[in-house]
Amino acid sequence: MISVAVLLCCLIAPGREQACLFPTPDFTIVCEKSISEYTVEEIITILDYAKDRVEKIIGLTHLRPFFIKVSSSTEHFVSETRCTWWRSGITKGDTIIIQPANILKKKGILKHTLIHEYTHVVVNQSTHSKCPFWFNEGLAVYMSGEISKLLNAGGCEPVTDVKKIEKLIMSGEREKARTGYISAYYVVVEMIAQYGRVGVKKFLDNFR
Ligand SMILES: [Zn+2]
Repeated sequence: MISVAVLLCCLIAPGREQACLFPTPDFTIVCEKSISEYTVEEIITILDYAKDRVEKIIGLTHLRPFFIKVSSSTEHFVSETRCTWWRSGITKGDTIIIQPANILKKKGILKHTLIHEYTHVVVNQSTHSKCPFWFNEGLAVYMSGEISKLLNAGGCEPVTDVKKIEKLIMSGEREKARTGYISAYYVVVEMIAQYGRVGVKKFLDNFR
């Protein structure tokens, strides 16, 4: 279990907004501005669940502590990540950067986003960031349970060519990216159907 006993620490750098740190033994939540204790507990509970889920399914967990940076606004998220405004989160190395928690909660995607990005942390740490992009994304969609939301957003024609899937996800266009994520999910589901969850672990072991 990830400890829910959090230690709040606020830092004020000259000329900058107040940053709050919430360290746990497994990760540190970094907020650009104040955040409710309830939301911090929510994030910790979701990551606790994500850790159990990923470990149960592929037998892997994070290998070292990581960071979750909660942006203070969509503008900050975009300027820091260079992502388009509609993306909910991104993982760079050991750092997850997400949109403001209240925005993700309003959209009902805080849980999906955190599980998705946590999966990337585990995959990146386990494979020295050498896992193919399409697989990393497909597995993250599989773990997060966001597939029903992606499918409910409209029809799409999934592709199976992994290079095309990567292009779609990186296109910067929302609809194309959605098709890419759905396609990546189906490829991973097919792999699990054929080789089982053990096969997924073996696939990742190739990159360790
Ligand atoms: Zn992703």
